[in-house]
Amino acid sequence: MLQTIVHYSLHFVFPGVLAYTFFRDQWKKAWLIMIATMLVDLDHLLADPIFDPTRCSVGYHVLHSYFAIACYIILLAFRKWRIIAVGLLFHMLTDSIDCWMMNL
Ligand SMILES: [Zn+2]
Repeated sequence: MLQTIVHYSLHFVFPGVLAYTFFRDQWKKAWLIMIATMLVDLDHLLADPIFDPTRCSVGYHVLHSYFAIACYIILLAFRKWRIIAVGLLFHMLTDSIDCWMMNL
């Protein structure tokens, strides 16, 4: 239960804080974009089973692979893609925290 609360507050609320801190002049847009990066979770649909609470997404799903994460880091270099890259990397961080909490 605690994990679920932490997970969703990190996925929804914290991106708002990040958006406000780093992209203040357009923070509402940045926040929406960051929430939209949750769409990378659609790659779970390719997995079998689609949802497994004991599985760690990072390093397992296509868009959560270390290769994908490396691409997101490269995206940081491009101004146009920066908000999306920050959102994606933050998403990976959130999922990593999940994996870590799973093993407590
Ligand atoms: Zn994810």
